[in-house]
Amino acid sequence: MSYMLQQLNEEKVFKDPVHRYIHVRDSIIWDLIGTKEFQRLRRIRQLGTTFLTFHGAEHSRFSHSLGVYEIVRRIIKIFQGRPHWNNEERILCLAAALLHDIGHGPYSHSFEKVFNLDHEDFTQSIILGDTEVNSILKKADSDFPRKVSEVIAKTYENKLIVSMISSQIDADRMDYLLRDAYFTGVSYGQFDIERILRVMRPKEDQVVIKHSGMHAVEDYIMSRYQMYWQVYFHPVTRSAEVILSKILHRAKALHEEGYTFKLEPIHFVSLFNDDVDLDDYIKLDEGIIQFYFQAWQEEEDDILSDLCERFLNRRLFKYMEFNPNVHMEHWHRLYTYFVRAKIDPDYYLIVDSSSDLPYDFYRPGEEEERLPIHLLMKSGEYRELSRESTVVEAISGKKRTDHKLYYPSDLVERIEDQDLKRKISEILEL
Ligand code: ZN
Repeated sequence: MSYMLQQLNEEKVFKDPVHRYIHVRDSIIWDLIGTKEFQRLRRIRQLGTTFLTFHGAEHSRFSHSLGVYEIVRRIIKIFQGRPHWNNEERILCLAAALLHDIGHGPYSHSFEKVFNLDHEDFTQSIILGDTEVNSILKKADSDFPRKVSEVIAKTYENKLIVSMISSQIDADRMDYLLRDAYFTGVSYGQFDIERILRVMRPKEDQVVIKHSGMHAVEDYIMSRYQMYWQVYFHPVTRSAEVILSKILHRAKALHEEGYTFKLEPIHFVSLFNDDVDLDDYIKLDEGIIQFYFQAWQEEEDDILSDLCERFLNRRLFKYMEFNPNVHMEHWHRLYTYFVRAKIDPDYYLIVDSSSDLPYDFYRPGEEEERLPIHLLMKSGEYRELSRESTVVEAISGKKRTDHKLYYPSDLVERIEDQDLKRKISEILEL
């Protein structure tokens, strides 16, 4: 039998707190899980710095990837035998679901911004390059790696398959909402996934939802909305993110100045030089990054050592609401005061906007990449969800941008010039 269709002698089962069990029957899936590139995801947290706000959020990208695979496996089971569903592409869906986040690195959000990286490029390189993942996929068929990469890049010709992994209601989102809610311990990420899976139907180019399942989908949309504002954009998480980005900026700036690190940052050199190859990238995980942060606390450079100490010991920046239309004048004044107080404003006075973070709850018409949700009506016609649901209509198209100004209140507290300290405190309302 071809490797593509080969089954394990015995089903493998992972115990999972969200889906109870994750079932693996196909040899190729089991082999992909065993690759070093996939195992590396165990060492990368799904939610980056969120654990500093919600201490339970220690779950990894490994568990999320398995979860997305399991949801797709269940959807396929329901789709089998239905019109528009072609069973030959079953393994393609499963492999793409499993590998959709394979290119993520540690603290992706900050690393991508500071070093100009894109995890999606690394996903493509891991699938198509000289890796263990690629050699497993090639064993199935020489063209198989290309197909998997196209599904993940959303360019694959069969849009039904693409929509299972990336649309407004896809396996990726369903898993991360449930998983992130479970591990953060919040009550609002819940929705009835069993019900949603039962009302999903394959159409030629996308998955649609039977009209009778509309309320379950409303719940899912509301849970997305809540999770974004309560968890993903949490201001304390963003404070940690700001400090992390500034550590990376500082280390890069020092490297460019020719500064001699006590511990030479060999894992960072290609990042600093904008010349990261796949092998360097795969070596990075949170363990490596935290090792450097530990070591850099002892550096001569005050800014680098202070920022690392803050990140590791959770001495985060405080924040105030910041409206760029109203507060720019404040910001300019603060900037000069900080310079006078010898607190480098480039590292200690930072405006962060939540629109820099993934913000994509349901907004029909505004999203090019994600297909809107269509309901399958009793008459057989399709209707876009927000036209049928008043709940969804109410939160559709409402883009909220949130800006905050971050600063270290402890350093302000320690300013000796009382006049300067008072001026700063007045603006910051300390
Ligand atoms: Zn994902």
